Amino acid sequence: MAHIVIVGAGIGGVPCAYELRKKLGKEHRVTLVGASPFFEFTPSNPWIAVGWRKPEQVRVEMHDPLEARGVQWLPYPAASVDAAGNALTLANGHALRYDYLVIATGPRLAFEEVPGLGPAGFTHSVCTHEHSLSAWKAYQEFLKDPGPIVVGAVQGASCFGPAYEFAMILDADLRKRKLRDRVPMTFVTSEPYIGHMGLGGVGDSKGLMESELRQRHIKWLTNARVERVTAGKMTVSECDDDGKPKREHVLPFRYSMMLPAFKGVEAIAAVPELCNPRGFVLIDSHQRSKKYPNVFSAGVCVAIPPVEPTPIPVGAPKTGYMIESMVSAICENIVAEIAGRAATAQATWNAICLADFGDSGAAFVALPQIPPRNVTWAKEGRWVHLAKIVFEKYFLRKVRTGSIAPVYEKYVLKALGIVSLKEVHK
Ligand SMILES: Cc1cc2nc3c(=O)[nH]c(=O)nc-3n(C[C@H](O)[C@H](O)[C@H](O)COP(=O)(O)OP(=O)(O)OC[C@H]3O[C@@H](n4cnc5c(N)ncnc54)[C@H](O)[C@@H]3O)c2cc1C
Repeated sequence: MAHIVIVGAGIGGVPCAYELRKKLGKEHRVTLVGASPFFEFTPSNPWIAVGWRKPEQVRVEMHDPLEARGVQWLPYPAASVDAAGNALTLANGHALRYDYLVIATGPRLAFEEVPGLGPAGFTHSVCTHEHSLSAWKAYQEFLKDPGPIVVGAVQGASCFGPAYEFAMILDADLRKRKLRDRVPMTFVTSEPYIGHMGLGGVGDSKGLMESELRQRHIKWLTNARVERVTAGKMTVSECDDDGKPKREHVLPFRYSMMLPAFKGVEAIAAVPELCNPRGFVLIDSHQRSKKYPNVFSAGVCVAIPPVEPTPIPVGAPKTGYMIESMVSAICENIVAEIAGRAATAQATWNAICLADFGDSGAAFVALPQIPPRNVTWAKEGRWVHLAKIVFEKYFLRKVRTGSIAPVYEKYVLKALGIVSLKEVHK
């Protein structure tokens, strides 16, 4: 009998628990450890921050769905991991032993790297439901007396899509309220150019996103390093191609949402030789820890090098479908090892990303996500806004029902040439 423990009940962890439970015989145990009683659907966060969604519409209490499918559910954060001793301790003191550990703990939000950044300082965040709710409360106050808005992503950030989404969604919301004419907007980003996305661009994402910002009267600063934020003021160094400051901007704002850089969560970062210096799990091509062979990892918490050097550091994003492909590889590999076979499955790291602009949107497909690529395109249209709503409903249904790879994924994505596992050439 094997006991598999998955830490982190997010976009990676929940499907991983369901899939392992489905693939393994009843003699094996699957346990999911979460930081709260809920699964939170992160991609809906920008909608929570403008009041288009309430957190309770886009989260799922996990006890009943998991226990109904035979997954043990422990909603207490992991406090420490003894990887050499195959054990972990939860914040409530509960100790667990495992045969295989899957780490899917997402990011720690490194607001402390820029003075004044984040909800404890002077900018908002859409990284969690709690942050988005607090951003929504502040936005309602802002609407009573609107003024300049600054949105973007700071140096070291790896997740740019939601920053663009939030800028466009704010624009759409303010136009609906007939307040847009009172709100100068600036997009501030560490990317070397608009539409880089931490990916060296996807298709013509540069042209597409620049055009979108221009049409919406949103000014931008690229190669930007945020030096500090104080009440209503952001100090930004605009840098040259060598990353040296060429101009300082002091941007006044009444409302600001800036995405921070990510690090790995403390309980995982503290495990000797498991992670890189920023606390991301070092893995091989089978999603397996380079140091501990019975530890696997998927999602934002894995170490992926930047796709190319940039004047201001930017990281590579880890997007939903890419994470699902990591999860598929982990499940295949753990099942194979338990059956006495070699763990050979490799994730494709194919990326499909739908960026909502409130009334339209842009879809990016990068196969694989890290260049050079076999397929790459970016397209814009109202259909993307609708597709994102469908994706939200579909993913939440999947989390509630445990149905992991239904017909849509098996046949529609396959027909588009988008698959989660690499063909292994023997
Ligand atoms: C605002 C936003 C919008 C995004 N939108 C999209 C999108 O539209 N499409 C897309 O493809 N990608 C999107 N992404 C990128 C990515 O898909 C998400 O960040 C996704 O949630 C990452 O999945 P994950 O499983 O790695 O981490 P998460 O979904 O963040 O899950 C990690 C879980 O681990 C828990 N955890 C942390 N520490 C511990 C601990 N010590 N013990 C137990 N549990 C712990 C956390 O509470 C969390 O529940 C978005 C990202 C952000 C920030």
